[in-house]
Amino acid sequence: MTPEPDAIFIGAGHNSLACACHLAARGWKVAIYEQNAEPGGAVKTGEYTLPGFKHDWAAMNLSLFAGSAFHGDHAAELASYGLAFAPTAHPFASVFPDGRWLGVSNDAALTTARVRGFSGADAKTWTALTRDFPNRAEAILNVLGSPMNLRAFSSLGWKTWRKTGAGGALDLAQFLMMSPRAWLDQTFESDHVKAMLAAWGMHLDFAPDIAGGAVFPYLEGMAGQAFGMVLGAGGASTMTNAMVKMIETRGGQVHCNAEVTEINQAAGRAFGITLANGTKIKAQKAVIANVSPSALTKLTGGTGGRHEKAMRDFQHAPGTMMIHLAMDALPNWTARELKRFAYVHLAPSMDQMARTYAQAKAGLLPDEPVIVCGQPTVVDPSRAPAGKHVLWLQIRMAPGQIKGDAKDEITATDWTDAAEPFANRALDILERYAPGTRKHILGQHIVTPDMLEADNPNLVGGDQVCGSHHLHQHFMNRPARGYADGTTPIKNLYHTGAAVWPGGGTGAGPGTMLAKKLVGK
Ligand SMILES: Cc1cc2nc3c(=O)[nH]c(=O)nc-3n(C[C@H](O)[C@H](O)[C@H](O)COP(=O)(O)OP(=O)(O)OC[C@H]3O[C@@H](n4cnc5c(N)ncnc54)[C@H](O)[C@@H]3O)c2cc1C
Repeated sequence: MTPEPDAIFIGAGHNSLACACHLAARGWKVAIYEQNAEPGGAVKTGEYTLPGFKHDWAAMNLSLFAGSAFHGDHAAELASYGLAFAPTAHPFASVFPDGRWLGVSNDAALTTARVRGFSGADAKTWTALTRDFPNRAEAILNVLGSPMNLRAFSSLGWKTWRKTGAGGALDLAQFLMMSPRAWLDQTFESDHVKAMLAAWGMHLDFAPDIAGGAVFPYLEGMAGQAFGMVLGAGGASTMTNAMVKMIETRGGQVHCNAEVTEINQAAGRAFGITLANGTKIKAQKAVIANVSPSALTKLTGGTGGRHEKAMRDFQHAPGTMMIHLAMDALPNWTARELKRFAYVHLAPSMDQMARTYAQAKAGLLPDEPVIVCGQPTVVDPSRAPAGKHVLWLQIRMAPGQIKGDAKDEITATDWTDAAEPFANRALDILERYAPGTRKHILGQHIVTPDMLEADNPNLVGGDQVCGSHHLHQHFMNRPARGYADGTTPIKNLYHTGAAVWPGGGTGAGPGTMLAKKLVGK
């Protein structure tokens, strides 16, 4: 008989894998149960269009993972299990209807010169922001990398206060509450510069007017310039595969096609799980659920009190649609320089982004959705046959449940029928900036918001980050006040994944912080 593991995980998202790696490295026996046929959740790679074309199902940008505390702790071991990155010095750009473009490269002089092409005053501001970035980033990253309990938060507040003075700490607090538009309007004069940065808020659900979103355009702009961007060599699954190997080498197990249907408890303590096939598995020390808050309620039958109310009230962001393309050439960008960038944002103005968000929230297919065009083979040609490319269009935002079409053209209200015409709307937008691109498409695979959720139930309504990061459910409120450290009211039951502080993305923050809480370091 195999001994009971110390910790059982529900779901093999990267936070579970990171947490399990860290626990296994400290001697815990771990077992992970994943409902999908493969591990990784939103971090996996497959040939979804044609043989030989490797597409990242969801996440492609692994900069957060590469810079994470987890990677810092285990980099050498993960590299020995095959983790490899493909870096680029040209992370992102935006293209505009007037034919102009603006991009950030890992070269401050080059990026500043591009900004100067739009505004001399903005170039001066960019230089000042660049100069202040190391100090300012340290303070912000300390907040984002810190556990959200009262003790840790007070100590962090005190450290910031000592380093920057009262004014500095209060300025930081004010900045963290600002909307992208409030900060961008205060800081820059060019609408192009503002739009290029504001597009980063749309990777989460921070449309330009949402409080708390300014930090994302700021960090992505400055960090993109300071560090570039990294992708996974050969596909994002390099990260998942290496963590699975690390777990298995240390005696842990990752079981796929194993849906968990119940968390077993007695006397207010979780002691195991039940699988869909009826198998029951016990854990000695911890049951760790990487699930959405609504799923946690379902699996436990309710956690009680304020925590249960927060799980029921938890709000999701609008959905995402992905179009994976196999191509025989890159898009014919009218601005040819765009062929160098990992991401090209088709998000021409803050007003368009605000409109798109409002439409998606109202259940409407946006008339002009924000599009992120990912060009992974520019960075990593190994993902496609020689001379060919993979491309994806990420459509932000799209409603999980369709009530109508803001353009009054698409009558379908279910995704099965709306997928094709809505994808065509996105491809038409791409054609505006890169005429003739359609004829280079060799294969296409559309992933609608409901397909994202069917593949991974944590992506409720196609919400790519398992819950809105708006201020009311971020920081100490993610996923519930008093439980941002992954604890729950049920003893030995822990919650991890993007729904828990510090939230979505591939930075493995929730999983790493929980592991350190459980093993002390
Ligand atoms: C389209 C898209 C693009 C993205 N792009 C980026 C990007 O470029 N860079 C970036 O940093 N972030 C990106 N993100 C966000 C990031 O990928 C996610 O926030 C992150 O990967 C979430 O990790 P997680 O550990 O919370 O688990 P998830 O990835 O959500 O995985 C959870 C796992 O749990 C499993 N599960 C759930 N319930 C059960 C159950 N009852 N029983 C068994 N298994 C269960 C699911 O099947 C899934 O495999 C993107 C996300 C999406 C969807």
